[in-house]
Amino acid sequence: MGWLVWIGLLGAVVVGLARLRASFLTWSLVVASGLLVAGLADLLAPLPGLVAWTVFLLVAIPLNVPALRRMLLSEPMLARTRAVLPPMSQTERDAIESGTVWWEAELFGGDPRWERLLRVAPPTLTPEEQAFLDGPVEELCNMLNDWEITHELNDLPPDVWDFIKQKRFFGMIIPQEFGGLGFSALAHSEVVMKLASRSVSAAVTVMVPNSLGPAELLLHYGTEDQKRHYLPRLAKGEEIPCFALTGPWAGSDAGSIPDRGVVCKQRFQGREVLGLRVTWEKRYITLGPVATVLGLAFKAYDPDHLVGDREELGITCALIPTNTPGVHIGRRHYPTGAAFQNGPNSGQDVFIPMEWVIGGQQNLGRGWRMLVESLSAGRGISLPALGTGSGKLVARVTGAYARVREQFKVPIGRFEGVEEALARIGGWAYLMDAARLLTAAAVDAGEKPAVTTAIVKYHLTEGMRRVVDDAMDVHGGRGICMGPANYLARVHQTVPISITVEGANILTRSMIIFGQGAMRCHPYLVREIRAATDPDPVAGAEAFDQALFAHMGFTLTNAARSLVYGLTRGRLAPAPVMGATAKYYQRLARMSAAFAFLADLTLLFLGGSLKRREKLSGRFADALSFMYLCSASLKRFQDNGQPEAELPLVEWACKYSLYQVQNALDEILRNFPARTLGQFLRLIVFPLGRRFRYPNDALGHAVASVLLAPSDVRDRLTSGIYCSEDPADPTGRVEYALRRLLEAEPVERRLRSAREVCPPHVAYDDWLDDLVKRRVVDAGEARALRESRRATRAAIDVDDFPPSRAHEAAADVAA
Ligand SMILES: Cc1cc2nc3c(=O)[nH]c(=O)nc-3n(C[C@H](O)[C@H](O)[C@H](O)COP(=O)(O)OP(=O)(O)OC[C@H]3O[C@@H](n4cnc5c(N)ncnc54)[C@H](O)[C@@H]3O)c2cc1C
Repeated sequence: MGWLVWIGLLGAVVVGLARLRASFLTWSLVVASGLLVAGLADLLAPLPGLVAWTVFLLVAIPLNVPALRRMLLSEPMLARTRAVLPPMSQTERDAIESGTVWWEAELFGGDPRWERLLRVAPPTLTPEEQAFLDGPVEELCNMLNDWEITHELNDLPPDVWDFIKQKRFFGMIIPQEFGGLGFSALAHSEVVMKLASRSVSAAVTVMVPNSLGPAELLLHYGTEDQKRHYLPRLAKGEEIPCFALTGPWAGSDAGSIPDRGVVCKQRFQGREVLGLRVTWEKRYITLGPVATVLGLAFKAYDPDHLVGDREELGITCALIPTNTPGVHIGRRHYPTGAAFQNGPNSGQDVFIPMEWVIGGQQNLGRGWRMLVESLSAGRGISLPALGTGSGKLVARVTGAYARVREQFKVPIGRFEGVEEALARIGGWAYLMDAARLLTAAAVDAGEKPAVTTAIVKYHLTEGMRRVVDDAMDVHGGRGICMGPANYLARVHQTVPISITVEGANILTRSMIIFGQGAMRCHPYLVREIRAATDPDPVAGAEAFDQALFAHMGFTLTNAARSLVYGLTRGRLAPAPVMGATAKYYQRLARMSAAFAFLADLTLLFLGGSLKRREKLSGRFADALSFMYLCSASLKRFQDNGQPEAELPLVEWACKYSLYQVQNALDEILRNFPARTLGQFLRLIVFPLGRRFRYPNDALGHAVASVLLAPSDVRDRLTSGIYCSEDPADPTGRVEYALRRLLEAEPVERRLRSAREVCPPHVAYDDWLDDLVKRRVVDAGEARALRESRRATRAAIDVDDFPPSRAHEAAADVAA
């Protein structure tokens, strides 16, 4: 009993110190006091007491006495750090330093301050933004016929192009003073999400001018003249922009573009001006074939020193009217399943005056920084909205389809195998929307959260892939046969586009999320690297020592927190709420501490070589990402007022995320480069083993059930997408069938219990007439049954074509 009290006391002290983020010195003083008390209370026999004191003094004295610490620890470590620090190019440095850090830094640090998350204002639209969604966006959705766009026209129809321009869809991010809509990131996200639930081609067309491109670059870096000239014209759709970075030789490694602009003087519009002679070859450029203004990234050189001493100026961005002589643009690529405009462009020795450089001459060579800064916010809005729009569409329509489609006389959604897929769809739709909303709120609060936006770009497009694959399986042949009635196959075909653009996903996961996260979110790493690369060796050594000492306290605190939270299964961790979700906050805090500790030790052990260990880095990225998705789900539940009916969704999202975090950390430990160290770290990360489980069958059943019938929670889960109950509309006809089926269900049930079954040799309508005649059902009930049957048939129907058209359709699919 006495021992239990002492152990409890020890646990309380450790938790207290961990919560207070105690320094190494404080830890040392507390351990010394503990040993003293243990000695006085006769808890330690003389020999173990002597051993404990010796070990303690051997560690504590050298580390707490600055001169000794420097000699024994920080100077050798500084020398090693200087030797192993990988060389970093300016483009890498810019990418790492771009944007801000936000909630992800809390998760990275091991002790998330929940109030920081819960303080973020719940997402709200202004009345103007809501009116735009209810008016022009709804109207545009009604105009879109994706089969016509993707199969017949391979483009948006002219009236749709006109409508988009006239209603200023291309000017959502342009402030009202320049004639744009001046929308928040949330409103921008809502517009793209709704359009994506109708037509990916239309969503991408609208998204691109509002994402990383001329408008965004002009707003932040343009000269006043450039802003005044271009922004009103872009807002009204009088100019169609594109932005060209990628080329045949530079895809993911965009910093290596070979396109060049040489500073020179040339006659232009009747006078000699300073400018650049630009040569480039680009491909995959969205809106390129129809663009009137080409945003171009190239590397500027000044061999004749016309603007300064340097010859290599670096990546530069310029705006070039596409009717400039020498610009070759207009040919198209055909990205899989989509009909938005996309194609190559090139130019050979095209002269552009200096005022076409975005921001003018002073921005020569600043292009890369401009691009990564813009990307650090932009990639968190458009593609995540597109992925979530598809996810919500799939959740709504697949649930309805699984209810109306029967096999073996049972709705297929009631089979456990299908239910598993439906649970994943529902759970992921919740996770995706939560992360989308939280990230948009951060951007609206002025953050450019580079790591968070990489996380949502990756996971919300991967989530789209996952749910669309599941939806295809649930739909069977109904999802496969192409035609106007098919609302799924085009989404399925376009998934790889979202995966590839704005940072291809493999690269984003394995290189960017943790690579950038470690540099930006770790409280001491950058300080240590800066100190190690300080040109003044004395100041560098001093700064390095201080950072290292603080770092040791941080590591120790996270180790203690991880161990104690692990032993108590998170119960000692703080939770900012009461009720059913409190335990998920605690478990997340536990995983955050384990992550922080493991990340720290891995960085210490591998140093710069972690850059090449993409498998480890990818798993750290997964752990960090799922902690973010989990916290976003908790925040969403809180913002929604903790509705009881939403509990299965948030529980599924949390359990699933925590399970993924656990698996990622487990895989890191299993593959840790030093086996023994890995085993030791496991004791601290998982002291009681791996306790988190995949959401169980009962929870999966509850989530799947949300999708199978109309309800408030189903409406909330799929809110903001285009919804129709029009039996003439491809998705509307499935929803219509679901409603009719549910109306007829009580009568069907009554007939079944009265053993009234349509005989196999009798037509269904004749059987209904007979039932009316026999007064088993009345005329209204017969009508409901007939309409339910008819609507179900329409919902499960697929298109067929005369042989010549079928050949065309097949050719289209092959293309
Ligand atoms: C439909 C479409 C629209 C586009 N629109 C535009 C546009 O408007 N403007 C523009 O400038 N560009 C645009 N792009 C280009 C897009 O950004 C690039 O396709 C993307 O950067 C990837 O380049 P890549 O296709 O050459 O693939 P690659 O760079 O060849 O990559 C191939 C694979 O290797 C992986 N990979 C590469 N390097 C690493 C690494 N270090 N670690 C791990 N994995 C790695 C990638 O993740 C990817 O999976 C568009 C592309 C498409 C398909």
